[in-house]
Amino acid sequence: GVDVASISKGYGSLRVLDQVSTSFKAGQFTSLLGPSGSGKTTLLRIIGGFVSPDDGKIRFGGEDVTDVPLWQRKVGMVFQSYALFPHMNVHDNVIFGLNRQGIRGEAARKEVARVLEMVHLTGFEQRKPKQLSGGQQQRVALARAIVTKPKVLLLDEPLSALDRRLRQDMQIELRRIQRESGLTTIFVTHDQEEALTLSDTVAILDGGRIIQEGEPLDIYERPRNRFAASFLGDAN
Ligand code: ATP
Repeated sequence: GVDVASISKGYGSLRVLDQVSTSFKAGQFTSLLGPSGSGKTTLLRIIGGFVSPDDGKIRFGGEDVTDVPLWQRKVGMVFQSYALFPHMNVHDNVIFGLNRQGIRGEAARKEVARVLEMVHLTGFEQRKPKQLSGGQQQRVALARAIVTKPKVLLLDEPLSALDRRLRQDMQIELRRIQRESGLTTIFVTHDQEEALTLSDTVAILDGGRIIQEGEPLDIYERPRNRFAASFLGDAN
């Protein structure tokens, strides 16, 4: 799993993360839920190695990776905007990360076929991103993130650009793919319903601190502050 140990981060006088400590369990789907500006993306970027913390440690499977640069950290990441290479077809977009790791030829092609099947895009290899729907593009991004078998899958509001219907379909898809791949997954969202339905565990971030974490039902039944309590408001 992923351990976050007393991570702090600030920009100027703004304290974005204030000694955040938590564990993301191996093989589980954990949502990092919180209002806008609560520091979710910053924490995810620190876990991925895109941003350095001011203080604290990040461990993957017990190993300290705080000073390991991002390209050696073995994380897969999917952002809200798809960030596929527009000039490359689906196959080339997915194989990109493998080639960068020195995996080429037949071995790489087999892995690409495996993940494209997993995201139900077999047969779409030659299409360019603009010839795909938003949901399909997001599935390509997911395939690209998981093809290298990362230690951790980091998802930053990957469904928020999709319309409601597609978003619900993709939630189910995402959960299926996560279960099949067995990847330790951290999913950032400000959508309480999404966090509740998708996750094994939910961690709620507010004002740069984790104010509550637990199983969805537990949080639903015993909200510990106003933000957590707004679950109940949504349900009624
Ligand atoms: P949202 O749901 O709106 O994406 P978030 O919970 O992901 O919000 P962050 O993106 O982590 O929040 O940002 C937390 C705070 O840190 C915000 O006030 C933001 O403006 C600030 N911040 C983030 N990155 C930087 C930066 N590079 N320089 C200065 N301030 C930053």
